[in-house]
Amino acid sequence: MSFYWSGLTASLNPYVPGEQPKDKIFVKLNTNENPYPPSPKVIEAIIGAANEKLRLYPEPSCAVFREAAASFWKISPDQVFAGNGSDEILAFAFAAFFNSQNIDKTPILFPCITYSFYPVYAGLWNIPFSTKPLNAEFDIDPDDYLTESGGVIFPNPNAPTGRALTIETIKKIARHQEKNNRVLIVDEAYIAFAGNCENDSGSVGSLIPFINEHPNLLVIRTLSKDASLAGLRAGYAAGNSELIEGLCRVRDSFNSYTVDRLAQAAAAAALGEYAYYSEVNSKIINTRNRVESELGKLGFRVVPSRANFIFASPPKPKTAPEFLAALRDRGILVRHFNKERIADYLRVSIGTDEEMDAFLEACRTIISEL
Ligand code: PMP
Repeated sequence: MSFYWSGLTASLNPYVPGEQPKDKIFVKLNTNENPYPPSPKVIEAIIGAANEKLRLYPEPSCAVFREAAASFWKISPDQVFAGNGSDEILAFAFAAFFNSQNIDKTPILFPCITYSFYPVYAGLWNIPFSTKPLNAEFDIDPDDYLTESGGVIFPNPNAPTGRALTIETIKKIARHQEKNNRVLIVDEAYIAFAGNCENDSGSVGSLIPFINEHPNLLVIRTLSKDASLAGLRAGYAAGNSELIEGLCRVRDSFNSYTVDRLAQAAAAAALGEYAYYSEVNSKIINTRNRVESELGKLGFRVVPSRANFIFASPPKPKTAPEFLAALRDRGILVRHFNKERIADYLRVSIGTDEEMDAFLEACRTIISEL
């Protein structure tokens, strides 16, 4: 607490990111980074942009980056917003589409177990929110969002559970919210790892191909996970051009040059490297499926994941924090959230096969010493 802080600053409850260790070498399975390098074409693009032009501000509309995303998804560039990582786009979207307490007290809705930045943004912009419980399998119950709201946001797949809703289910929520002119934001940070999967009620995949049908649907993507570019900070949003203009209005009331020259060049190159990334990400999906089954054999309770991480509860008598500490002693970092219902679980990002073998070996040792 400081006398110099505004009332707002004093009321904030900031997000705490996963550890980025500076000293010891760890097997790092705690922040859902991609274990494989970015495409060589992306590195070439960064080197190509590292020139005397850096004295100039970047192009503020991020045209090249937006055109690359638009051409990938076969939508128009005015349906794409480019940002400095998806966290920044999420922050802008909360301000652009969700009302503050002073204007409308109808709460926005999101799951009670979800990306922990959402309540932080709601606090930053003074937006009333209400959370909806997940069901016993840790799935979002879509019926909870077929109700009056100030807007809806959730990740698909959800984090840190890795559970996904089908395209049809999300479209139904979008249609319902449209009736009251409310925005549905779908945070697709992990959708590239969902794979081609069908379940009883339909298929799981990106909602971007459906933005023309749903004027109130904003889809937010990051290049941090599926394009191996967490260190770059690049993301984009797709939605109808009025939503995109809303995001531009907030950005230009904050900082007109959010995405630097190197990031714009690299992001555009990454969006052209589909073949490279689909190979890398299929590898991650295969590793995830293998590790899920191995963890099951070791006595973990595993929540079947559609993301590049696994959410699992280690066998007793060790608690999840104790198991995390034992892994850390063996040079392996994973993540724990000290929150109701999930305090017994650990989130384990998917690394290379060698890293996951080291993780599984450490789990076996820890369990054998119980
Ligand atoms: N959404 C979700 C659900 C996430 O887990 C993350 C990563 N922490 C982000 C968005 C942010 O990604 P970035 O800012 O790196 O684009």
